[in-house]
Order: sequence, then structure tokens, then C-alpha cells
Amino acid sequence: MKDFDVVIAGAGPAGSSAARVLASQGFRVLMLERQRTVAQFIPCAEGISRRMLVTFTPEDPRWIAARVDRVQVWAPEEQTLEVLTPHVGYILERKVFDRYLVNQAVLAGADLQTGATVLRAERQQDGVTVVYQHQGREKRVTARLVIGADGPGSVVGRSLGLNLEMEPREIHRCHQVLLADASIEAERMEIAVGHEVAPGGYAWVFPKDQGLANVGVGILGDQEQARHYTLRFVAQRFPRGRILGELASVVPTGGQRMDLVGDRVMVVGDAARLADPLSGGGIPPALESGKIAGEVAAQALEQDRLDASFLTRYPERYWQNNGRYQDLSLRIRDFYLTLNDADLAYLARSLKPVFDGKILSSPDAFSLVRRVLLERPGLMVFLLRKGRKALVDYLQERILGG
Ligand SMILES: Cc1cc2nc3c(=O)[nH]c(=O)nc-3n(C[C@H](O)[C@H](O)[C@H](O)COP(=O)(O)OP(=O)(O)OC[C@H]3O[C@@H](n4cnc5c(N)ncnc54)[C@H](O)[C@@H]3O)c2cc1C
Repeated sequence: MKDFDVVIAGAGPAGSSAARVLASQGFRVLMLERQRTVAQFIPCAEGISRRMLVTFTPEDPRWIAARVDRVQVWAPEEQTLEVLTPHVGYILERKVFDRYLVNQAVLAGADLQTGATVLRAERQQDGVTVVYQHQGREKRVTARLVIGADGPGSVVGRSLGLNLEMEPREIHRCHQVLLADASIEAERMEIAVGHEVAPGGYAWVFPKDQGLANVGVGILGDQEQARHYTLRFVAQRFPRGRILGELASVVPTGGQRMDLVGDRVMVVGDAARLADPLSGGGIPPALESGKIAGEVAAQALEQDRLDASFLTRYPERYWQNNGRYQDLSLRIRDFYLTLNDADLAYLARSLKPVFDGKILSSPDAFSLVRRVLLERPGLMVFLLRKGRKALVDYLQERILGG
């Protein structure tokens, strides 16, 4: 008899979601979390669309720091546009949100061990052994299945042979400050693009309550450069700002469909590199992948089918829901990475009549792109000039044709 049915490494949104589903069906679940206190350090700008939040959790004021009603975009050559997006999303208080999710899992019956760093997992014929460090000692626990919810570069996934390799252009390095400044506008999210601001990525200002904001930059580059661009952006945009804290981390933005399961192992959330390749948003993919993986794991445990061919129902279901969007997002991201500052300024000028001062009530990516193509057909010529014939064909067939 194994110590647990399932051991889950990592108690972020992905791990907690999987744990709650499994524990509520009566399975014996252990979550191992390396932080001493759950959700103490969370590298995140905390933005989420309202549509996504309500799919997974209630809209509870306890974990909502601010509401987003407008989005302003800054591009090179001093191009700006502002879209009115009434109640489109929230800036979360993730410390509260993540603790709520962990608590839901624990209330459903999952065990939680904090201060427990998973070192590796070893597969046996009839189960897995998870080796972890706790209070300076190496410990072992056995389970029928292990779920890696341990963030980018998952120790669990790699030690059980999943291919989780990422190329440098598939990892965005991020730096972020918590900023206090009287000029931060409540309810207005800001995004800035351009090679001077954030090469290969973007800068963000996500307002929280009390005149605070998460201000950061994600780039293709190294961590020191990410810090340099962040501090420069802050100095230029908010010269009177006071930095209350800094954090650094990465977002896996490759978006390729790679191994998410093997015999007796599944990876979820950032461990599975599921963040949106374009925006880097990873909270909804973490919640959804954790939930689906938990549901498939429950069936697998019940039928004692913990082989990769059964567990693959999880990625199949995930991509069935998200594959079409992921495909669009990847193509736009790849195109975005080829643009220089003059191109970005040209695009901002072209998009201004479509978006500036306009109201977008519940924008979804497909209708937005469709609207852009219908209102600015000249953009197809721009794409062809940039050598993106394949993208033009895709947009014509999948977006305009569909
Ligand atoms: C700067 C920045 C800004 C971001 N902004 C946004 C945003 O605005 N909106 C959005 O949707 N997404 C954003 N993201 C992405 C988002 O934060 C992640 O995609 C999301 O947290 C993924 O959830 P997860 O549960 O997979 O992983 P995590 O939230 O990273 O949780 C993983 C957990 O595993 C634990 N862990 C790691 N290794 C081990 C180990 N060996 N043993 C035990 N425990 C371990 C960690 O301590 C952590 O608690 C941002 C990311 C960054 C870096």
C-alpha cells in the first residue's frame, strides 16, 4: 500500500486545483510546497479577465485588489491608444487568492506539507517515490501517481523523463516592482511595447488599490536586463514613484504542445509551460489544467490505469478547449517578435481608429482579430510585405472564413 494515492509538488493555483478535485473524490492526496508559508512569494502582475476568473472561482472582494475598466497601449514614436473595457477584468490579491485555493484543497481533505522541497521523483513498477527535503533532512514518500505543479522547469517532470526543454526564445525573463505613486490611475491598465522599453516583450502597469501598482517588464534577454528595463521604465513613466518591493522570475511562453504526461506522472500549469505565449498570462491555464488533470487522474486511479496512454486524456481535453486559441496566440507572438519599432508605431497608428476611445464589452481574441482585419484590410498587405504569407492564409481561412 502506498503512502498516498497522489503526491502533488507545488501548491500554486495548478497544484491546489488538482488537489481539490482529487481530495473531494476521496483520494488520499499530499501536497508538498517548498515555501514555509503558502503563497508567500508570488511572482505575478495579478491580472485576470473577469470571464476567466468566474469560470473557476467566485468574484470575491477578498481577492480582488482592483477592477480594470480601461486599457492604454503605448507604442514607439509616441503612439498611444486607449480602449474602454468596462469591467473586463481584475487585478487580484494573489496572496489571498492562492491561499483560498490551497484552503479549498485542504478542506476537501488533502494533506499539505510546507517547507518541503521536492528533489526528484523515481518511478517503480507499481508506483512512484517522491524524494524531498524537509527541515534539513531528506525524506521519501510513495504514491500511485505524482503531479508536477512545481512551476517552470518542473523537477518532477524532468526527473521522470518528460521532455520539458525550452529554447531561450521560449522563456520571458521578468522583473516587477510594487510601486506607490499618486499619478497611477485606478482601473486603467497600461501596456507599453517597443525595443527601447521591452525587447521581445512588453512593459505593464497593473493598478492595485491604495494608489499602488504592479509595474514590470518581460523580455527576451537575461534577468539583469529585465531589471534594467523595469527600473528605466519606472523612472521615465513614474519619476515620483516609490518602489515598495522588487521581484524577478520567468514565464515559459513557448506554448508548444510537448509531453504533459508519462507513466504515473502528469505536469500542470507553468510546469507544463501552458502560459499564453502572447500575454504570458498563466493563472487561467494553471487553474484549468489542474482541474482537468485532477479529473483524469481520479478516473485513472479508479480504473488503475496510470499509464501514459490513459493519462493522455488530460492533454487531449486541455487542447480541445484551448488549442484553437493557443494556435492563434503562437502565430501572433511569432509575428510580433519580428517587428521593429517603426512597425510597432505603424501598427499602433493603424489600430487607433479601431480601438481608441471605443468600448469593447467582452472582447475575445477571435472577434478582436476579425474586427481588426475587417476594419483595416490594409494590414494584410503589411503582413505580406513582412513576408508573412502563411499568417495571411491562416487569418483568411480561420478568422475571416470561419
Ligand atoms: C512577473 C510575472 C508576472 C505575471 N503576471 C501574470 C498576470 O498578470 N496574469 C496571469 O494570468 N499570469 C501572470 N503570470 C504567470 C502566472 O504567475 C503563472 O503562470 C501562474 O502562477 C502559474 O501557476 P502554477 O500553479 O502553475 O505555478 P506557481 O504559481 O509558480 O506555483 C508553483 C508552486 O510550486 C512551488 N515549488 C516550486 N518548486 C518546488 C519544488 N521543487 N518542491 C516543492 N514545491 C515547489 C512554488 O513554491 C510554488 O508555490 C506572471 C508571471 C510572472 C513571472
